[in-house]
Amino acid sequence: MRTRITLACTECKQRNYNTTKDKKAHPDRMETKKYCRFCKKHTTHKETK
Ligand SMILES: [Zn+2]
Repeated sequence: MRTRITLACTECKQRNYNTTKDKKAHPDRMETKKYCRFCKKHTTHKETK
């Protein structure tokens, strides 16, 4: 089962991505390196509610 999550940049706090994740594979908050168009670079993005 996949859950909808939002990924927010940890540097500027913008919510840049909507995605889904497998709750069994990632029971905790997910962190991914993604491109932030506000920071204009790759930053860590964290799952938010
Ligand atoms: Zn950013």
